[in-house]
Amino acid sequence: MDLAAEALGGNRYALARLISLIEDGGVEAAQALAAIHPKTGNAHIIGVTGGPGTGKSTLVNQLALQLRARGRTVGIIAVDPSSPFSGGALLGDRVRMRDLAGDSGVFVRSMATRGSAGGLARATAGVARVLDAVGFDVVLIETVGAGQIEVDIARTAHTTLVVEAPGLGDEVQAIKAGLFEIADIIVVNKMDHPGAYRTISALKLVSERPEMDATLPARWSVPIQETIALDGTGVSALLDAVDTHREFLRMTGQWAQRERTIAKHELLIGLQQRLLADLLIEIGDQRLQDWVERVANREMDCYSAVCSILQGVPALRQE
Ligand code: GDP
Repeated sequence: MDLAAEALGGNRYALARLISLIEDGGVEAAQALAAIHPKTGNAHIIGVTGGPGTGKSTLVNQLALQLRARGRTVGIIAVDPSSPFSGGALLGDRVRMRDLAGDSGVFVRSMATRGSAGGLARATAGVARVLDAVGFDVVLIETVGAGQIEVDIARTAHTTLVVEAPGLGDEVQAIKAGLFEIADIIVVNKMDHPGAYRTISALKLVSERPEMDATLPARWSVPIQETIALDGTGVSALLDAVDTHREFLRMTGQWAQRERTIAKHELLIGLQQRLLADLLIEIGDQRLQDWVERVANREMDCYSAVCSILQGVPALRQE
């Protein structure tokens, strides 16, 4: 039996190998993704992001425990764009796994840098599809940091949690990093910290949105959830908010809209990679290098070089 079929049949070893295959990309990965595709579309994909040290890993751990207590299975993808390690070897996983180890309803995978942020986002989306296909009810995608990768991953999730915490500086980090715009739910973690209520007030100020316009589609008002991930306080209420968001998306037709956004994003990433790969083959290394020299020597600007290169490719020639 092939890897995809074995993984779909519940073989965990095959699942881990299938995920490695997807991470590596290439033709076999594409074939495996095509094979599992009909089984996807059932999981609730949840992104958890925010600045380093806000308590995301601790919170994801708690979310997984409480989801299990509610009878739901959980796949966790921990993405660390800054780490060169991959394949479940991160220290954080071992710590995390103390609570979740031995539970077949939980599967954890670490993903690290794949050479480019685009590659990592593509691999993460693929792995989320695999976990969805093999039947996990919820897929939690945890990202460290605050860059393009977080925004890309938010585009692959149905619900995005942005985690904030007091005591990490005088400003609210997520606002500074522009993460606020992608939040469906804001989580203020470390509510046991003395500065927590100041963080809440600062967030309430920015989260106040204009009055609802009846002519617009129903709008989700982003809730602020308070948690202490260390002991699980507030995590059950957070999960209720996550469920409410899913219901909101379903009731308003916005779930289908998110599915379209996810599909479009994946398509665009795929097209971008494929077109560039085909184009580079067409141009050839030597000719590419010639263009590089011309731009570097100031003989030509980059934009004109792009136009000239495309003029030279019959299928892409612009009239
Ligand atoms: P991440 O970098 O966002 O994944 O954060 P971690 O989950 O690794 O947590 C960073 C530190 O904050 C760790 O020492 C945690 O034990 C601690 N931490 C996490 N949640 C809480 C909380 O609710 N209260 C307090 N006081 N500490 C917390």
